[in-house]
Amino acid sequence: MSKSGAFEHLRNSDQEMYDILAREIGREDGTLELIASENFVSYPVMEMAGGVMTNKYAEGYPGKRYYGGCQHVDEAENLARDRAKQLFGCDYANVQPHSGSQANMAALLTFLEVGDTIMGLDLAHGGHLTHGSPVNFSGRLFNVVSYQVDKETGRTDFDMVAKLAREHRPKLIICGGSAYPRHIEFEQFHAIAAEVGAFLMADIAHPAGLVATGLHPSPMPWCDVVTTTTHKTLRGPRGGMIMMGKDKENPWGKVAPKSGRVKNISELIDSTVMPGIQGGPLMHVIAAKAVAFGEALQPEFKQYSRQIVANAQVMAEEFLQMDYNLISGGTDTHVILIDLTNKNISGKKAENALEAAAITVNKNMVPFDTRSPFVTSGIRVGTPAITTRGMQADDIRLICKLIDRVISNHGDEDNLKSVKSEVNALCQSFPLYREMH
Ligand SMILES: *Cc1c(COP(=O)(O)O)cnc(C)c1O
Repeated sequence: MSKSGAFEHLRNSDQEMYDILAREIGREDGTLELIASENFVSYPVMEMAGGVMTNKYAEGYPGKRYYGGCQHVDEAENLARDRAKQLFGCDYANVQPHSGSQANMAALLTFLEVGDTIMGLDLAHGGHLTHGSPVNFSGRLFNVVSYQVDKETGRTDFDMVAKLAREHRPKLIICGGSAYPRHIEFEQFHAIAAEVGAFLMADIAHPAGLVATGLHPSPMPWCDVVTTTTHKTLRGPRGGMIMMGKDKENPWGKVAPKSGRVKNISELIDSTVMPGIQGGPLMHVIAAKAVAFGEALQPEFKQYSRQIVANAQVMAEEFLQMDYNLISGGTDTHVILIDLTNKNISGKKAENALEAAAITVNKNMVPFDTRSPFVTSGIRVGTPAITTRGMQADDIRLICKLIDRVISNHGDEDNLKSVKSEVNALCQSFPLYREMH
């Protein structure tokens, strides 16, 4: 994308939208992105996601479509599936879910009937909406039992998981979450699921890139089904995916519509995704997933993932030194969850003050939070996006000091302005999409 040619057609036909886009590119380049679930895709991923495959209807799966003209999108989807299997060391991958939530919906509807009991991590303790929140389909369709983290350690309370599992006999247990700074303990969850005869589902939406590069344990040997997003640490286009380490024979004698008798769970998952909950797949996004998986298979991506974790560890140390209270006392991953109670500021106020200083984070409930989800007592920060820009230990230390300056003096406009100008100067040294505007 050359500077002169960037978005030339858009600029010539829709100045209003072009201006909005230019402002967003400027925002991404000019601010510090510390939202743990965000990242910056490469130009090849962006080109594919913005490409002609958006035009194609391809309901069905490669070789079995309901539309003609699918030969090239078939190649793209096969490449995405093959690369996903290689990346995660698994037998089966469905790359069609439009998002992580769709992946979870399809997995849950394959393994469960409406009214069945599931267990998942409490939203306020780092779980995700789709793990049983009452405002989500998962909480409306299933009987939900939530487990929590231990108050002292901030890590999964396995006594509680075992006790609840024995008492409620869930049909499926979900492990993984959106604000859990430690490795997900697949093996310990497996032992409990096996004891009570529950299926085990891992949702690795957050650490997927770390799993792919061996920096986080793999769920594949322990879990019946694994779901993920493709846009967080994996650094692909916005989307979801469902995997199984080993495909298994269908234990329910279920029959998939159309194909008649089915033998394997993989076929049931495929039919739950389409026609169960989705229609035409987003072929441009699936093709962009293939490009991102290809990038993730390169040695540079492993180096990048190591740097994400190293940066998060420097960040944790720095915050601890400045007397910040980190849930679980630190991190094994890209995520840090900070309880701001001792700093006398709510998550909401911190988020707003940081935003005024061009630092983007999200307010987040902390375990045993006494404030509402709209206010919260904490913030969640993460290193994937700033690591993509090339930032390293010294930059991280500076960022922590800037955050502390905002938190300690969040009512002082001049202070926020002066931090903002330092943030802008830092961003200036790590160009992002700059030839696009
Ligand atoms: C982000 C996330 C999801 C959902 O992803 P969307 O693409 O936003 O639907 C699901 N599970 C977990 C644990 C997540 O962190």
